[in-house]
Amino acid sequence: MTETALPELLSSVVAKGLAADPADPVTRQEALAVLATGDEDLMDVVAAAGRVRRRWFGNRVKLNYLVNLKSGLCPEDCFYCSQRLGSEADVLKYTWLSPDAAADAAAAGVAGGAKRVCLVASGRGPTDRDVDRVARTVGAVRERNPEVEVCACLGLLGEGQAEKLGAAGVDAYNHNLNTSEATYSEICTTHEFADRVETVGRAKGAGLSACSGLIAGMGESDEDLVDVVLELRALDPDSVPVNFLMPFEGTPLEGTWELTPQKALRILAMTRFVHPDVEVRLAGGRELHLRTLQPLALQCANSIFLGDYLTSEGQAGKADLEMIADAGFVVEGAGTDTMPEHRRDVVVRKRGAGTQVAPNA
Ligand code: SF4
Repeated sequence: MTETALPELLSSVVAKGLAADPADPVTRQEALAVLATGDEDLMDVVAAAGRVRRRWFGNRVKLNYLVNLKSGLCPEDCFYCSQRLGSEADVLKYTWLSPDAAADAAAAGVAGGAKRVCLVASGRGPTDRDVDRVARTVGAVRERNPEVEVCACLGLLGEGQAEKLGAAGVDAYNHNLNTSEATYSEICTTHEFADRVETVGRAKGAGLSACSGLIAGMGESDEDLVDVVLELRALDPDSVPVNFLMPFEGTPLEGTWELTPQKALRILAMTRFVHPDVEVRLAGGRELHLRTLQPLALQCANSIFLGDYLTSEGQAGKADLEMIADAGFVVEGAGTDTMPEHRRDVVVRKRGAGTQVAPNA
């Protein structure tokens, strides 16, 4: 990039990020140009993303905690996933955790500082019986931690299931797009990109806060990365997790190591510029790919997963907390709204099922 082009690019994406005006968004060309910057420009790019991040989220970091309700033995074939059909990855395999066991796991995350608990189950999507089971689990989690935000991630949703989850006390639903529409068939053959888009729409239609993100490092081009981040913008989620591929042995993508820490940071910065006032979450694979540059990622992302992932171990929760403090950030408290005021159209429920407060009926 020329000496004049970089300041111009960063000045434009920062100005747009600080305004967060949907009528004047960061363009595809600008997002591609951010990914095309050189390693020598990395600190300028990260600092620019940091200005946008601070405008909307201050120095707060939201902590999220994963609870894998059902692990492995999935009939789907997502190439990146250690739980996929035929996976030979040596991961834990178990069927549904009891509500009590899930509540115990969630309580550990909340005690560590997590504001949101993400209840995840492997599989194509839940049966209605599964939804009832998750509803009981949500009740058990809330009984022990009335303040916690609850997100469910159960795969493709059928008609009416998002509404049932909402009535059970679920605040948010996660379903990632993962990669661009054009390359989706290269990472999965058992369902389609459109199925994923439909589920995000169902969650939003039921009033749940939508969480949907991507996985980088699966062999995609910069164009694919920008496309999926723009496709996500069109869905208007409240949270965008950015995962970096963990290439498990025994999966089709084993041995795929395409990212450098610098590239991972550019991807996070680009995601922040495209989603200036949305929760950008540093997700799976951060330790593997960012390595010693992890703290810099907090300049772009305002949210991370605490502790372990679904089938792999993360760094110690204590190390996460130390990293946040050392980098000059603070853990977001339960009483603080994550989203900037103008985006609080989804009001997280604090009454009715799972609380001591009268329902809205
Ligand atoms: S549907 Fe979910 S659990 Fe199943 S293979 Fe795909 S990502 Fe893994």
